[in-house]
Amino acid sequence: MSCPSHKYEYMSKELAETALIDQHIYKNFLPHEGPQNVYECELCGGWHLTSKSVSRNEQLQEMIDSGELKRKQTANRWERF
Ligand SMILES: [Zn+2]
Repeated sequence: MSCPSHKYEYMSKELAETALIDQHIYKNFLPHEGPQNVYECELCGGWHLTSKSVSRNEQLQEMIDSGELKRKQTANRWERF
C-alpha cells in the first residue's frame, strides 16, 4: 500500500508521533521548524507528519515545555561528535 500523497505512512498515531519527535531530536529543529503534528490520511488510512498544522502535537509540545526535547537534542549532538 502506498499513499498517493507520496508521504511516508505510519501504521498508527503512536508510531507517527514517535517519528515526529525523533525528527525534532535528530534534525535538531527549533520548535517551530519541521513537522508539527500528525494526521490520519483520507487517501491511504495511514498516518503522516505535517508541517502545516495550526496546532502543535501534544506530545511534542510536552517535550518542548519540559525541556526534554532540548536535552535529547544536546545528547544527540554529543553522541555524534
Ligand atoms: Zn496517505
